[in-house]
Amino acid sequence: MRIALIAHDKKKADMIDLAVEYRDVLSKHELFATGTTGTLVMGETGLDVTRMKSGPLGGDQQIGSMIADGRLDLVIFLRDPLTSQPHEPDVSALLRLCDVQSIPLATNRKSAEIMLAALKNGAI
Ligand code: PGA
Repeated sequence: MRIALIAHDKKKADMIDLAVEYRDVLSKHELFATGTTGTLVMGETGLDVTRMKSGPLGGDQQIGSMIADGRLDLVIFLRDPLTSQPHEPDVSALLRLCDVQSIPLATNRKSAEIMLAALKNGAI
């Protein structure tokens, strides 16, 4: 599966925790990420991640474009709902495209854990 990983700044620690905990299952899939998230995940896990631009610099739009083209199967986007984002329109567009294309999307840590556990046990 082709999986996208994105985390807003205050959620990056959660993303790293998840990537470390589910490293084995993630290693069996093709990973994509926005710039900073990808750098952190690669650095902490050694996983191979294709990095887009940083989210605020167009990375969310690049991920959105992949979704529109049918090139992603699953998205984990750990959003910070308590901080306004300068690139909020890009964030909204990405989330919308997941719904347009019916792509499984987790926007918080617990949902992401359920998704990764399902991936691990073959339910997805
Ligand atoms: P980043 O982008 O991984 O480059 O920080 C995430 C985002 O804010 O969309």
